[in-house]
Amino acid sequence: MARLALVTGAARGIGRAIALELARNSFDVAVNFNHSAEAAEALVKEIEALGVRAGAFQADVSDSKQAEELFRKVREALDPVGVLVNNAGITRDTLLMRMKPEDWDAVLSTNLNSAFYCTKEALRDMARARWGRIVTISSVVGLTGNAGQANYAASKAGLIGFTKSIAREYAARGITANAVAPGFIDTSMTEVLKDDVKAVIAAQIPAGHIGAPEDVARAVAFFAREESSYITGQVLAVDGGMTMC
Ligand code: NAP
Repeated sequence: MARLALVTGAARGIGRAIALELARNSFDVAVNFNHSAEAAEALVKEIEALGVRAGAFQADVSDSKQAEELFRKVREALDPVGVLVNNAGITRDTLLMRMKPEDWDAVLSTNLNSAFYCTKEALRDMARARWGRIVTISSVVGLTGNAGQANYAASKAGLIGFTKSIAREYAARGITANAVAPGFIDTSMTEVLKDDVKAVIAAQIPAGHIGAPEDVARAVAFFAREESSYITGQVLAVDGGMTMC
């Protein structure tokens, strides 16, 4: 029987590419969305056409009760979760002196708290099965910091410490926890930037161009594989050589 992967924020962008890549790798897929209901339903059809099972599940994963309910619904409709991809994320960029507590709280609760809520739920299923893969989408900004993104960088750095701690707690139980740190990837999160800003960023990337969601998705699928069982607590940058640290 195929294992079930739950991807948070999967209706569009990087999450969508991850959901499709996992389906191509024979995982059944639970597609979590918050606002993008239509896109989530369309994605479920696309995944089912690949010959695996799928379902769309609405939940704001920054809310602990909704995260708990999400896992209950996924277990009921499909299966217990074998692979969790903590992907949901937002930005509220501004320089620190202009950053409001609301900007800080929204980013920390969506990017970091959600991973705590979802991982805790997923680990119930994984510990019982003595098998699990937790893959968390951090960012190179969590490694290097970035002016105008103190809230986002703190959340993404927090996810790395979180991942390494979970990896240590669960390594002996067949459960791995790893992080993927994307660089600059072409999604709606980055399309708000002006073309000249994008050109400046691209010039700083050794590969010479920005990445695609599929570049990140393939790294996630690598960590989810059966054969990756001896790899845990790692952070893999998918950034065209931007950070190399
Ligand atoms: P995106 O296109 O803006 O998509 C964000 C996704 O997150 C959407 O599917 C959205 O769902 C979901 N989401 C946001 N808040 C949510 C919540 N409270 N509950 C459930 N889902 C929620 O962004 P992206 O570029 O694909 O980013 C995906 C991940 O990659 C994020 O963690 C981001 O920080 C990370 N990342 C992106 C880049 C980049 O360059 N793009 C670089 C490094 C890291 P709905 O549409 O359903 O509301």
